[in-house]
Amino acid sequence: MAATSVPAVSEGRRGTAVRAAVCHGPGAPLLVEDLTLADPGPDEVRVAIEACGICHSDLTYVDGGWAVDYPVVLGHEAAGRVTEVGGKADGPVVGEKVVVSLIRSCGQCRACRRGHDVACTGRMHLHDHSPLTDPAGNPVTQGLYTGAFADAVVVHRSQCVPVPEDLPSTSAALLGCGVLTGVGAVTNTARVDAGEAVVVVGCGGVGLAAVQGARIAGADPIVAVDPLPNKRDAALRFGATHAVDADDDVTEAVRAATGGQLADHVLVTTPAPAAMAGALDLAAPMGTLILVGIPDDGVTTEFDTGLLAVRNQSILGSKMGTSRPAVDVPLLVEHWRAGRLDLDGMVTSVHPLEGIAGAVAEMRSGAAIRTVVCPGGTER
Ligand SMILES: [Zn+2]
Ligand SMILES: [Zn+2]
Repeated sequence: MAATSVPAVSEGRRGTAVRAAVCHGPGAPLLVEDLTLADPGPDEVRVAIEACGICHSDLTYVDGGWAVDYPVVLGHEAAGRVTEVGGKADGPVVGEKVVVSLIRSCGQCRACRRGHDVACTGRMHLHDHSPLTDPAGNPVTQGLYTGAFADAVVVHRSQCVPVPEDLPSTSAALLGCGVLTGVGAVTNTARVDAGEAVVVVGCGGVGLAAVQGARIAGADPIVAVDPLPNKRDAALRFGATHAVDADDDVTEAVRAATGGQLADHVLVTTPAPAAMAGALDLAAPMGTLILVGIPDDGVTTEFDTGLLAVRNQSILGSKMGTSRPAVDVPLLVEHWRAGRLDLDGMVTSVHPLEGIAGAVAEMRSGAAIRTVVCPGGTER
């Protein structure tokens, strides 16, 4: 993945003080420091962050797997409340509860006009001017266009989608990345139909959201694959019909679960290269492999091109579940409201911003589905 922003001082703008967890280099711990957040300009909004999930993409940046300019504030799966709207911004209004995502779309470029928000080519002020500066006035990168491991963010209005007051912020945050991506990969990218056979490889937050998306779509069977028993148990709770140890003969297990047919859709949500390599073997003729997890920069894999043609299979990339936040977030809220989408059950633990190191460690251990930091307090 390319660097997500070119930091530069937002000239001429006043700002507010924020507390933010800053990463100063690959492998460095996240340190909570005082920064300045520029006031929102036209089409931008400031959001007080109430909750932000720790996503594996944050950890990839912390570990140096993707290029980024340090220092950087990460965090891109957030919910909070709009506190200021820049001039002439349509959309969210002050006081509104919103989900914040990294999908920034201009609404005018060719991709946006075709509904492909994730491929927007528009260039906005925030792309070239990070709103964050350190006490010496030096720029700090707004990681993944968001920088939500902080009291507040300034983002483009397209990155905010209003959500109902009774949706807890810790649950709403997951709609900003993990759930948007996992469910979107099933419904937007793969377009899974009722009765189709789905395999989900990797049962982290995105994978378990994909399992829920497959259940909502009426897929059957839904085979979840993960090396960790707690993740396999979670997958069964969230709607998988079968759970398979990644270290067992997965092809044989999928064959058995599908009556010998193999899968119509194989979604790989883990960035582990080994998981990608064998995933095409799980797909039936006419089947589709959907790559959702994003490995470190430069990772490649091989496949038999002749077999792909003869089997009439497809390989699709899925960035953020090919989602359009303004359309997909309200749909996800509807599923949550109807009891079809379990968000609360995906939040394993909640931490204050100062406890972010513990939240990160818990995610790395594999014990958690999602850990969430609450810069505005730990109220759920
Ligand atoms: Zn993410
Ligand atoms: Zn655009």
